[in-house]
Amino acid sequence: MNALEQKSGIHAPIVTPQTGATPAPGIPTAHPLAAILDVLHGGDRFLVCSHARPDGDAVGSMLALGMVIEQMGKAADLVTADRVPLQYRQLPGVNSIHTMRRIRDPYDAAILLECDSLERTRLRGLEKLFVVNIDHHITGLEFAHLNWIDRSAASVGEMVYQLARAAGAAITPQMAQCLYTTILTDTGGFCYGNVRESTFALARELVEAGADPIAIAQEVYFSSPASKLLLLGAALRRLKREGRLAWLWVTHQDMQRTCATEEDCEGIVNVALGMAGVDTVVFLRELPDGGIRLSLRSKGRLNVAAIAARLGGGGHQNAAGCTLEGPLPRTLKEILDELRGAMADLKGTRSHQD
Ligand code: 5GP
Ligand code: MN
Repeated sequence: MNALEQKSGIHAPIVTPQTGATPAPGIPTAHPLAAILDVLHGGDRFLVCSHARPDGDAVGSMLALGMVIEQMGKAADLVTADRVPLQYRQLPGVNSIHTMRRIRDPYDAAILLECDSLERTRLRGLEKLFVVNIDHHITGLEFAHLNWIDRSAASVGEMVYQLARAAGAAITPQMAQCLYTTILTDTGGFCYGNVRESTFALARELVEAGADPIAIAQEVYFSSPASKLLLLGAALRRLKREGRLAWLWVTHQDMQRTCATEEDCEGIVNVALGMAGVDTVVFLRELPDGGIRLSLRSKGRLNVAAIAARLGGGGHQNAAGCTLEGPLPRTLKEILDELRGAMADLKGTRSHQD
């Protein structure tokens, strides 16, 4: 019994091919993708969701999966707990994403993208549904009835692309636009360690299918509201450095003074990581309720996902996050001690190639 079954009392049905289901060419029957296709073929109405505070991968992969499901002649409702950030609001079909906190309608299945638990969606009402989990995080968990976790995928959008191909769906220009966005944003503009030769091959294929890389980059990287830059200024004024470690933070008061929204915090941590000689950064944000959001980044071998997971969060080897209790000075001391310890341990295991 998996974690979700224990919680909900629902037993995962053994997924068997439905009558009339189209066999997916080239997909081994034991592959979770085959079982996911069976679920899609077997139902009519699906819920597609992702994590709270959705990012480019969450928004782009939800939209693309919705398009695949529609091409299959089925209905998909796209739902997130928080609104779509400004830089993704030009994506095709974005108005079909509904922002709500409770799911009331019945569905044949809920497909969760980029989540390691039902809680990560911040949506209530999922407990009664058959849940499919599609994720690529190193800290991904098999919490659902059906789980497809591919830790080598550059984005969940890349997995949705595979699903689209396996379902025989056409990669439309609209779908390509959404999928390209997932790759661009989750690789930090083709900069992070998850970039492979195949990432460029897929990017090329999506551009050939109609994605406009210049328009997407323009939206994602060159359309920041003034509040975001003002908040960045506040954070940079507090930038501190100790060897290879750097940290910076914003208070709730900073957020109010600069009229910033939480999406304006995205990217601040990466600016600090751009400093020469620094390879580990933590950005802290004080929440209105006194809690503290942490964004962790590393450029090297330090696995920040392991640190975030120990503190109740998760993520990728080089980018992770979690939420802790305040007050800010205490939380800052705690996380700096954690990071100093992890960095010292790593130094102790340094290989002769470093
Ligand atoms: P960010 O720092 O940009 O909020 O998040 C960096 C990465 O860590 C993203 O891949 C995000 O999904 C993951 N992440 C951030 N916060 C959490 C959290 O509270 N729980 C889990 N499981 N993952 C998180
Ligand atoms: Mn992702």
